[in-house]
Amino acid sequence: MLEIRPNCEHCNKDLPNTSTDAMICSFECTYCRACALEIFENVCPSCTGDFVERPIRPQKEIEKYPASSKPVFKPKDLEKAKINSDKFKSIPPENR
Ligand SMILES: [Zn+2]
Ligand SMILES: [Zn+2]
Repeated sequence: MLEIRPNCEHCNKDLPNTSTDAMICSFECTYCRACALEIFENVCPSCTGDFVERPIRPQKEIEKYPASSKPVFKPKDLEKAKINSDKFKSIPPENR
């Protein structure tokens, strides 16, 4: 089950369950759309995988299965992230 983390790991923007701005990689590294697509160019700085839009858990389920309240905030070294993005962004995710 997805944790639905409450914030962007890089810029700390709030990303509540109802946000349409949240993106995740397969490990659920969670970023806002601007960080995921513009800064990291769709290459996860932790695992090199791609990002997809995080689905929104419906209201009747979020009460029973609440979103995580534990922020993960670990801003990335942008120089290292750029090297990582440049290396992997032209490779389709299925070949990374
Ligand atoms: Zn962000
Ligand atoms: Zn990742």
